[in-house]
Amino acid sequence: MNFDSDPALLAEVRKYGKFDVTGCFNCGSCTLSCDLANDHVSFPRRSTRYVLMGLKQALHESLDPWICHDCGDCSTVCPRQTEPREGMVTLRRYLASVYDWTGLASKVNSSKIWHIGSLSFVGALVLWLIVLYHLYVVKMPLSDFSSTSMGLEHTFPTVTSFTLVVILFPLLILLSNAFRMYGITVHRKESIRSPISQWIVEAKTFMLHFFTYKKMSECPTEKGRWPKHLLLGIGCLGMLAVLVFALRWFQTDKIYPLSHPQRWLGYLFTAFLLFGSGDILLGRIKKEKEVYKSSEFEDWVFPVLLFATALSGIVVHILRYSGLELATHYSYAVHMMIAVPMLVVEMPFGKWTHMIYRPLAMYFQSLKERTLRQEWSSGGVPEYVV
Ligand code: SF4
Ligand code: SF4
Repeated sequence: MNFDSDPALLAEVRKYGKFDVTGCFNCGSCTLSCDLANDHVSFPRRSTRYVLMGLKQALHESLDPWICHDCGDCSTVCPRQTEPREGMVTLRRYLASVYDWTGLASKVNSSKIWHIGSLSFVGALVLWLIVLYHLYVVKMPLSDFSSTSMGLEHTFPTVTSFTLVVILFPLLILLSNAFRMYGITVHRKESIRSPISQWIVEAKTFMLHFFTYKKMSECPTEKGRWPKHLLLGIGCLGMLAVLVFALRWFQTDKIYPLSHPQRWLGYLFTAFLLFGSGDILLGRIKKEKEVYKSSEFEDWVFPVLLFATALSGIVVHILRYSGLELATHYSYAVHMMIAVPMLVVEMPFGKWTHMIYRPLAMYFQSLKERTLRQEWSSGGVPEYVV
């Protein structure tokens, strides 16, 4: 292997958050404390060393930061207080920016001004579209905005198409970045390209980690956090599925009855979202657990937006069922101004990207290990072990 050293790498990584590892003397205590290290003797130190040595390409190809699940055991035992957990969080933000072809993830993850600015811009754009829609499609004069009472029904089916666009467009960007992740972490390394049969066999690893966050459950420190994270994940995926496949139910002229499935699915997923995001926010406020002891701006944004989206959705629902049409209208506008920026900014560029990158990293890692085992058993020494 021949990697060039880039002395600017450490400064570059530090743009994405805390990375105070210059005091690390490679004692290995973090590896010993980490329940996810398994037989990877250099996890999580390896990525840290890459940064300190300026090995940019090796860092870009590394999957380790995604395998870390944030428990903080390593930070507790580190004799030099170098906070390896925080270092891994920062590396995840940095790598998410490396995978992103638009360049926006880099701006959003390294600058508060860009992060707040992009969320505010999308929120303002939603408001502007709502005003234009009422002025030119509904043909309502501006002076009637605060007095004319009307339900949400006139927005259907326009809002269905709009919802599909604001979910599917960012999802498409995220999937294209996931493909770039594959190119950077796997495809570049010819020695670990696996036959298609192994990709199919190992696809179960992706599904397992995508739907269950199983790796988190393997860490004793994370045992309590795992079921809550699982509920939050089910809430996010379930609500996205309802919005993509079942939004029409919400839009029937007659308000749907108590027995309607969208009601109960919607209530269930909303409860999961409120509970999961609320628990994270409470943890970050209390700072009792290592994982929540130190929170950066980016760590707050996603759970705050999730909580606010779920809460504003409940308000819209209550007002609609109470027959308060004008209030429903305004609360729905506020709900859209919170939910759309979250979908458009956080899903493809921000914290939400880990929904795809983490299970993909598990998938690629298990393929790498499978290839490694096969090469060892056939008597060869894989290039990336030398
Ligand atoms: S425990 Fe701290 S000092 Fe020791 S290798 Fe890990 S990060 Fe470095
Ligand atoms: S935060 Fe937990 S999972 Fe991540 S490297 Fe440290 S000990 Fe391992």
